[in-house]
Amino acid sequence: MTLAQALQKYFGYSEFRHEQEAIINMLLSGKDVLALMPTGGGKSLCYQLPAVMLEGLTIVISPLIALMKDQVDALNLAGIPAAFLNSSQSAGEQNEIIAQLNRNHIKLLYLAPERLFGSGNKLVDFLRSLPVAVAQIAIDEAHCISHWGHDFRPEYLMLAGLKDHFPNIPVIALTATADKQTRKDILDKLDLKNPAIFISSFNRANITYRVNPKRESFDQLLDFLNERRDESGIIYCLSRKSTEALAENLRARGYAADAYHAGLDNNIKARNQEAFLRDELKIIVATIAFGMGINKSNVRYVVHMDLPKNIEGYYQETGRAGRDGLASSALLFYSPGDVLKLKGFVAVDGDPKQTQIMLSKLDDMAKYCQLPTCRRKYLLNYFDEAAPDHCGSCDVCLSEITKFDGTLIAQKALSAVFRLKERFGAGYVIDFLRGSKNEKIRQEHKELKTYGVGQDVSKADWQRYIRELAALGYLQFSGSEYPVLQLTDKSQAVLKGGEKVELIATQTIETRATEDLPF
Ligand code: ADP
Ligand code: ZN
Repeated sequence: MTLAQALQKYFGYSEFRHEQEAIINMLLSGKDVLALMPTGGGKSLCYQLPAVMLEGLTIVISPLIALMKDQVDALNLAGIPAAFLNSSQSAGEQNEIIAQLNRNHIKLLYLAPERLFGSGNKLVDFLRSLPVAVAQIAIDEAHCISHWGHDFRPEYLMLAGLKDHFPNIPVIALTATADKQTRKDILDKLDLKNPAIFISSFNRANITYRVNPKRESFDQLLDFLNERRDESGIIYCLSRKSTEALAENLRARGYAADAYHAGLDNNIKARNQEAFLRDELKIIVATIAFGMGINKSNVRYVVHMDLPKNIEGYYQETGRAGRDGLASSALLFYSPGDVLKLKGFVAVDGDPKQTQIMLSKLDDMAKYCQLPTCRRKYLLNYFDEAAPDHCGSCDVCLSEITKFDGTLIAQKALSAVFRLKERFGAGYVIDFLRGSKNEKIRQEHKELKTYGVGQDVSKADWQRYIRELAALGYLQFSGSEYPVLQLTDKSQAVLKGGEKVELIATQTIETRATEDLPF
């Protein structure tokens, strides 16, 4: 059976996505792999398909017991024998699975790291003694092994011994979120041998990114939600308390909202999560404890009421929107105060090196919020991916053009053209306006009234204004080889009649960048 046939037979798909095929070929040839793919990109298939092609057992390490069941159910439904072993099962259930493993009846076994290496390696030793050897090991959410990732889990450090126990078995580490540092840490800790590294595009073209100042954010949120009445969304807050308070406030406004955080009773968490998945609960107001592995495709928006700690976490969380590919929004409320607050948290953490890294990641996050340039570009560049300067679907790219009263500017420009007798090109007119020391201009024209009146405007801005004035019909270019600037019928109204001229503020973007600076 070819890979394409197996893909069709077991999963019902006709094509591979991203680099699935290349990754699978690497694994089948026995190589270790690190695969970075965005959430929803199709990571699971990268080890599930080899698992059915390979002779022996595939071990899948996964951090959350709750997720294992979903995955295993889905696989069994597709006719692929899979199982998990964890503390939620009775001894009888676990023994049954052990028996099936002995009979080579299971293709994929899901385990938490502490299960694999706990109780004096009993399970590891058992798995190594199986009649048909372990063929492949997949580490899901591999960034959990790194202190520098955004979701460090100490149990994952137990995986450092993996290669000692299974020296010649291909290992695939998968994650949707790892910057350069975290990637290196994953490779080091897992001791991957000469791994093939695959980094898929992280661009989520259907998500629009926005950052708003954190002022009256509840009112802003209500406006935002009002346009999305029947849609599902996740709203992240920093503290458990604020998730509950916000959920209650939203309920008071008629929204089907509830909270989710690690401090809630397990039953309540499960209830809220399921209600959200079934679309009964439209809004889940959560701490970052919510979301890992949530496979809900129609989340239309993700809001951050508070500043996330780093770009990795932020990108992971916003990535939960729009998995179905339909247009979705990510909205973040930013205040410099949040930066200071988070800095305070980081500083108490201990290990100086780690603190340093976390602070610098926090700075990168704060920078994102104050960007004068495309947010998507910044995000993609953060993960070492190239991107065009403008995405057209972030608030910076979409920002409405602000206009200002440019009458004085227009009068200066038109008057300069008039004084220069409509005989010079734009470059010369601008030099004249700016009082250039150029010999010719000085000699011939410095006595003229308008010489130097435009010193306070940069050359680049003058160029834009003059182009704009021409577009508005107050100036014209005439002559093709050396076009000179001339007045038009409309010019007099501005020069003499005081007609008001509105121009596009060339400083819009620069001004935005300097407001709200934290320091
Ligand atoms: P990830 O773990 O990367 O977040 P999943 O492995 O859960 O993503 O895959 C996301 C969705 O995409 C799943 O519904 C999966 O069945 C689907 N999928 C994966 N690979 C393909 C493919 N080649 N063609 C179509 N759908 C796919
Ligand atoms: Zn953009």
